[in-house]
Amino acid sequence: MVTDKNQGKADKLSLDIDIELSKWNDWKWHIRNSVRDLDTFEKLLGVDLSDYHNQFKATVDTFPMSITPYYLSLMDRGDLFNDPIFRQSFPSPKELDLSTEDLEDPLSEDMDSSVPGITHRYPDRVLFTVANVCSMYCRHCTRKRKVGDRDHLPSKEQLDMGLEYIREHTEIRDVLLSGGDPFMLDDDALDHILTQLDDMDHVEIVRIGTRMPVVLPYRVTDKLADMLSQHHPLWINTHFNHPREVTPSSRRALAKLADAGIPLGNQTVLLAGVNDCPRIMKTLVQKLVANRVRPYYLYQCDLSQGLSHFRTPVSKGIEIIENLIGHTSGLAVPTFVIDAPGGGGKIPVMPNYVLSWSPSKVILRNYEGVITSYRQPREYKSDFCTGDCKGCDLQLKLDDAEEYNVVGIANLLGEHDPSISLVPEGNPRMERRKDA
Ligand SMILES: *Cc1c(COP(=O)(O)O)cnc(C)c1O
Repeated sequence: MVTDKNQGKADKLSLDIDIELSKWNDWKWHIRNSVRDLDTFEKLLGVDLSDYHNQFKATVDTFPMSITPYYLSLMDRGDLFNDPIFRQSFPSPKELDLSTEDLEDPLSEDMDSSVPGITHRYPDRVLFTVANVCSMYCRHCTRKRKVGDRDHLPSKEQLDMGLEYIREHTEIRDVLLSGGDPFMLDDDALDHILTQLDDMDHVEIVRIGTRMPVVLPYRVTDKLADMLSQHHPLWINTHFNHPREVTPSSRRALAKLADAGIPLGNQTVLLAGVNDCPRIMKTLVQKLVANRVRPYYLYQCDLSQGLSHFRTPVSKGIEIIENLIGHTSGLAVPTFVIDAPGGGGKIPVMPNYVLSWSPSKVILRNYEGVITSYRQPREYKSDFCTGDCKGCDLQLKLDDAEEYNVVGIANLLGEHDPSISLVPEGNPRMERRKDA
């Protein structure tokens, strides 16, 4: 029987295995005991999934399973198949339904890979894969094709090749450490990589993408936070998809990182059956900012193989953003992006607020459906820009300078609302109706 005073849900579980309680907070214990087979899953959760044995086997033969005991402990046994934690981590036979739009490497990361582990797509920044492993295999993983097939940490030689590439390319000012999960590396290995990057003058910032605060928050130890705080400016992006993932343990992990002076961001993937709902998403982003995490991107689910059952139409993301902008803190609103197939990079897709314009005025609408005009300056002389700043007056001095009530368009989008139009007050057509 596992009980963890600190960790909300676990005490509701009767995990019938002999776990020494002291081990629950040890991240390496969770990695060693990640659940990879159906028997253990059934035993730990006390459920019977024997009807699904054959489907399960077929699915994990292609896309393996791995769930940390912590993440598993968050599952709601009473409503397992609808549970967002379950759906993100337990294999579905639908993963084997390949659809015609599926692509093996939709973001062409392999094609943009100059040396193994480096994807250099944008002019000034690179993605650097420093680990091929994760503590938990997300069913919606964009790099699903790679999961489990090279389940190891890259060799020192391979990491050195990546570092050498960054050292030689002085146009790189931003390095994103990704994976896999970089926090699968032990503190010393991570410290080594960060120290090397610190020593490169052209590298201005380093970012780490990790899902550990969500799937294994005990990885964020005081020692890790201490080590990271020696490598500023360092940014961390994590990956919460549902408000149920925000637990007392994950809050503590986020607080440790924020207290270490690390700005935190979050990337969410829009997933059918998990978070494709404005109300869920609003709750999530508000919980994130309350924990000092800035929602950064909301991703349209990409075209990787085995993800078709998770995809929503793009309009679902637009509807969600419509329900956020103006309705809650601007800080809590992520940018909705489609990572363009073929390596085109992230493309923002947001609702439209500009309705029309003339040379003198711009006509805008706000979140409530109020239509307004902004008069543009009559006298604005734009100097001819030569691009080289010579002879320009502008100075460029580089030295350190509970109830859910929505209004407006979002309401009109809502299926629950019978109204069919928003009509401005004093509309003559409506006045004529009153007179008749
Ligand atoms: C997402 C991504 C980046 C970083 O993009 P930002 O918009 O700067 O966060 C860099 N390289 C690759 C290959 C990416 O996919």
